[in-house]
Amino acid sequence: MNLAILYRGPLASCNYDCPYCPFAKRQDPPELLRADRAALARFTRWVAATTDVRLSVLFTPWGEGLTRSWYRNAMVSLSHLPHVERVVIQTNLAARVDWLADADPGAAALWTTYHPGQVTRQRFLARCARLSELGVRYSVGVVGLPEHLDEARALRAALPAQVYLWVNAAEGRRYDADEEATWTRLDPLFGWSVRPHLSLGQPCHAGETAISVLGDGTVRRCHFDPAPIGNLYDGSWRAALKPRRCGVAVCDCHIGYVHLKPLGLRDVFAGGVLERIPAVWPHPGGAASGTA
Ligand code: SF4
Ligand code: SF4
Repeated sequence: MNLAILYRGPLASCNYDCPYCPFAKRQDPPELLRADRAALARFTRWVAATTDVRLSVLFTPWGEGLTRSWYRNAMVSLSHLPHVERVVIQTNLAARVDWLADADPGAAALWTTYHPGQVTRQRFLARCARLSELGVRYSVGVVGLPEHLDEARALRAALPAQVYLWVNAAEGRRYDADEEATWTRLDPLFGWSVRPHLSLGQPCHAGETAISVLGDGTVRRCHFDPAPIGNLYDGSWRAALKPRRCGVAVCDCHIGYVHLKPLGLRDVFAGGVLERIPAVWPHPGGAASGTA
């Protein structure tokens, strides 16, 4: 049995100040950080003990996790477990990445996002270069805002061709055909992100072979359907897993719609579903050539 877990603890703070984010420059009080650390420790113990399931884990903190030692330690320790296929975290890549030398590069991977205005491109690229040196798999993303376009182009041109650069449609923004074509030249898979997917009633792997877990162990199908279907720590999650149809109107985030069955994106991203790396990359269309 394979199970993908999207984990999100109480942490909700970030060292960056992105104008489009509610967690920008937010600080967590010490007691919340202690609670987040304890919740993550409990989760990692559960992962280590659940050896009858082939697990893939994606940490999706509200803010930035890799500035906290407990996320770095969890990435390293989980990467060495034989039943853990992949352990991934979403990160702004602000923190140094040398600690990943202790992780198994066959299992540890990063979903990184470049936030122009918060870090220089050179600094971000230096982090990427170190990841490549360490042999750690990573994707790089940008939010598709017009003011990011020049930086996104320069980033694509500077990244090695084998690194996938994804573009997320900015929340609530409509793209006309020209804009869509412009961003698609940078990310040939932008078409999946540019419009929210009308998911209501559609079959989805979420709740069957993918779940969302909160710090207290509450299990939901995904981060976007708030209804609990069980708990990780009382074992009730096992009976809850079954084929299901989506119960919400739209699904507009990659970490959700990658599991939406009719889209077939688990095949497109086979081997890299959680870290968002396509199975076939560089893309046959040559979009990673940096000439977009
Ligand atoms: S790096 Fe991510 S979490 Fe931090 S402020 Fe920017 S968008 Fe928000
Ligand atoms: S389509 Fe999206 S919102 Fe619906 S169940 Fe799947 S992941 Fe959740």
